[in-house]
Amino acid sequence: MTRRVLVLGGTAGGRLLAERLAELPDVRVTYSLAGRVTAPALPRAAGAARIRAGGFGGVDGLVDYLRSERITAVIDGTHPFAAVMTGTAVAGCRAAGVPLLVMRRPGWTESAGDRWHRVPSLDAAARALDGLGERVFLTTGRSSAAVFAGLDRHWFLLRSVEAPGPVLPARSEILLERGPFTVEGETALMRRHQVDVVVTKDSGGTLTAAKLSAARALGLPVVMVDRPPLPAGAVTAPDSGAALRWLDTQCDGAGSG
Ligand code: NAP
Repeated sequence: MTRRVLVLGGTAGGRLLAERLAELPDVRVTYSLAGRVTAPALPRAAGAARIRAGGFGGVDGLVDYLRSERITAVIDGTHPFAAVMTGTAVAGCRAAGVPLLVMRRPGWTESAGDRWHRVPSLDAAARALDGLGERVFLTTGRSSAAVFAGLDRHWFLLRSVEAPGPVLPARSEILLERGPFTVEGETALMRRHQVDVVVTKDSGGTLTAAKLSAARALGLPVVMVDRPPLPAGAVTAPDSGAALRWLDTQCDGAGSG
């Protein structure tokens, strides 16, 4: 019997999980993307995992999809800040009676020498910049640039995978790049642009952590935006290995192939 697993993706961890699931003979995996990035990174051997792109249309749309595709389990491998999708997954899976695991890598933790300022939101990050320096390395993603648009006294180096929208800080330079990044590269970048302060979300993981080591080495403050809370009752696992073990406890082969 085939287990039909939906992986909500858009992250390196989600891709890795889809690759591992695609190797299992009794699993049919579908890897789902929001469909916002022009050339998204896909699971290797993408032929083995079905790819779908675009929103489901909220909770009702997800319930319809789970039923029509006869999905037996969902693993949410979205980014820790993709809170709308995770909320939809929790509500939709509950309504459809489909087991859900939220895969969340641990957040970053401070080390000796770090100068972190933890804040609860992007708005709070914008407010926190006063007094921390004029030249800001902003790594919170293209959709967040508008939050900093009113800060005329600061200069921003905006790094994102895709170009940000039209509402930008008056003084800014855009750098389109996708990780992974190295400590050497991040240190050189911050030196070259005379960065005073780094702003980041607490994404966790190794792919984009080099900026934190570089900031520590350069003695720079980091404004760290905390993760949004998980919906009540969400079952979580830190990585793909734990997610595969969870799947074995959930799927009894229901669904057909
Ligand atoms: P979001 O605000 O939580 O989701 C907005 C809407 O996009 C959802 O309601 C859903 O549309 C659709 N959506 C999101 N992820 C989807 C997926 N994997 N498959 C199908 N539909 C999806 O999400 P976001 O923060 O904009 O992030 C969008 C995507 O980028 C996510 O897949 C996430 O993993 C990835 N990503 C996000 C960040 C970040 O910092 N937020 C960073 C790196 C990667 P419907 O309501 O129509 O179902």
